[in-house]
Amino acid sequence: MHEDRVERDFSARSEEEQQAFLQETWCDNCQEANLGMKNPREYLYKGVIFIEGECNRCASVVLTELTDDDF
Ligand SMILES: [Zn+2]
Repeated sequence: MHEDRVERDFSARSEEEQQAFLQETWCDNCQEANLGMKNPREYLYKGVIFIEGECNRCASVVLTELTDDDF
């Protein structure tokens, strides 16, 4: 399933960046922005970087997709 994913080291980002990504989220389940996420994992998939974590409110998977501008 995940063979196309390339794991990246989220913790290698600056503390500021990590905090921003952890706070600026969109949860499909809650239909609400910036609830925050926990247990972040970062990976590259088909040329796009994703940060995946669990919604702080409902624990559903939340995904942040990084555009080139965010690299
Ligand atoms: Zn949620």
